[in-house]
Amino acid sequence: MPLDDQTPTPQQFASDNYAGICPEAWAATQAANAGSMPAYGEDPWTARAADAFRDLFDKPDAQVFFAFNGTAANALALASLCQSYHSVICAASAHVETDECGAPEFFSNGSKLLVAPTENGKLTPAAVRALATGRSDIHFPKVRVVTITQPTETGQVYTLAEIRALSAACRDLGLRLHMDGARFANACASLGCAPADMTWRAGVDLLCFGGTKNGMAAGEAILFFDPVLAEDFGYRCKQAGQLASKMRFLSAPWVGMLEGGAWLRHAGHANACARRLAEAVADLPDWRAMFPVEANAVFLAADPERLEALRACGWRFYTFIGGGARFMFAWDSDPARVDALARDIGSLSRRAA
Ligand SMILES: *Cc1c(COP(=O)(O)O)cnc(C)c1O
Repeated sequence: MPLDDQTPTPQQFASDNYAGICPEAWAATQAANAGSMPAYGEDPWTARAADAFRDLFDKPDAQVFFAFNGTAANALALASLCQSYHSVICAASAHVETDECGAPEFFSNGSKLLVAPTENGKLTPAAVRALATGRSDIHFPKVRVVTITQPTETGQVYTLAEIRALSAACRDLGLRLHMDGARFANACASLGCAPADMTWRAGVDLLCFGGTKNGMAAGEAILFFDPVLAEDFGYRCKQAGQLASKMRFLSAPWVGMLEGGAWLRHAGHANACARRLAEAVADLPDWRAMFPVEANAVFLAADPERLEALRACGWRFYTFIGGGARFMFAWDSDPARVDALARDIGSLSRRAA
């Protein structure tokens, strides 16, 4: 079979990981492919990628690790903060709770996730406090960590003030704060703030920074802002099957993403495509934005017949969150395809009839 036999289908927005590899990550991978190099992260690309993170976060003593995917990054990061009898507070809609098949509990040998009901997917200091102080007896797993998703699974962005308020509550309660940043770049592009301001300067202890949805083939970085917390983390990664032997191919793409600012440009583009769709369909009867569009996600509620008709137009989308259509945009989203989607949605509203 010729290698180019799989003709790509017209672009879809069902998920931001439908996208291919962005040119910057691709070029860095190719550059890293020159000859032989030490394995297991002893290579110059891995050192350079870790330095690029330390520069970007203005944190020379940050400890940086690379994992294959976000589930592993989150699960190992949380496990590193917990004993098996501890618990982790998260929003009910958090990926760690709904989409990781119990990996955080598995890799922590049983640390329990405590889900907080939330209005909009965002944890609040009050919700954290209620869960953290509800029980203090020996029969309940001791609360140890709070994890937030930035941006949330439905595309809302915690403001810096909200993160600071959460971390203040955490400090007060003796809890650590972890951030699931599978789409961290989109949050930075949305707020226009320095990565440091959204993380360690706001009291975040540990960040999982997503590369896959940002334009890489695979790979998430785990950043410890307190190097003491990173002790033995390398062993944890190895034991979990997350230590790449040819590490340079996991780390070099980060060099391509970070050094020239592609990570932020691509996220800005993805966010702009989400706004483009949201604005184009904002006034349509029969379609309703389910959540504020603050990052690269648009969720549209409509009756089941209209959703089916949109599928019949050839569009793919998921409805697993709240029953509406989810559209996610990425570095390669074509504005003309966004407009085509908006036109089809428009044709399925009463205004068109
Ligand atoms: C995609 C995603 C992850 C990582 O998922 P993997 O499929 O394991 O890479 C983690 N958290 C959130 C919020 C995500 O959207």
